[in-house]
Amino acid sequence: MGRYSVNTGYVDAIRRAGGQAVFFPPGASDYAHLLQAVGGAMLIGGGDVDPARYGGGAHPAVDGIDPERDESELAIVRILADRGIPTLAICRGVQVVNVALGGTLHEHVPDVFGPAVPHRAEPPGVVVHEVEVERDSLLARVLGTLRCPVPSHHHEALKDLAPGLRVTARSRDGVVEAVEKPGHPWFIGVQWHPEVSAADDPVQQRLFDALVASAASSRGS
Ligand code: MN
Repeated sequence: MGRYSVNTGYVDAIRRAGGQAVFFPPGASDYAHLLQAVGGAMLIGGGDVDPARYGGGAHPAVDGIDPERDESELAIVRILADRGIPTLAICRGVQVVNVALGGTLHEHVPDVFGPAVPHRAEPPGVVVHEVEVERDSLLARVLGTLRCPVPSHHHEALKDLAPGLRVTARSRDGVVEAVEKPGHPWFIGVQWHPEVSAADDPVQQRLFDALVASAASSRGS
């Protein structure tokens, strides 16, 4: 028997922000109604997006493909983008955002960017690297800094940016580490894992604080 699972870090970060987390498994029929009732959404980490979704190729490092989850999350992203629902997309989440809106992914970061900045430990685990944040971005306002250490655990990354997105952070090897959607009330995608360090790092906790605050005002509007 399979299982759906959510790491406690995501739920705890929402709790610290004063919010309540609810989990929508893949396969629901009316995400628009559910998402508008909750007022905000977080797309969390997980396995790789099927390269077939963005015209990519097979790669031996691609792992954990879940066709039902891909299908559901791609649909969810279009709802979140079109309806202006506050959104924080994390790791796999930012990759789903880019694919859903018409972008592509690198199937394996070390093949393209080399080893200068490790983006995950081997065997796969979390490493910390720095990111540089673009001035005059929503991300910079939320984090309150233009440079910070972030927990990283990914081997794919954004390649061709989807129309309507803006890159707002990179690591020093050039990997896209964050995007946002100008014109949307609150839409941030990060390639890193803020939930891993948020309990001890107020800068990362601000992402969840701002999402919960934006969701509350979205429900009230
Ligand atoms: Mn990274």
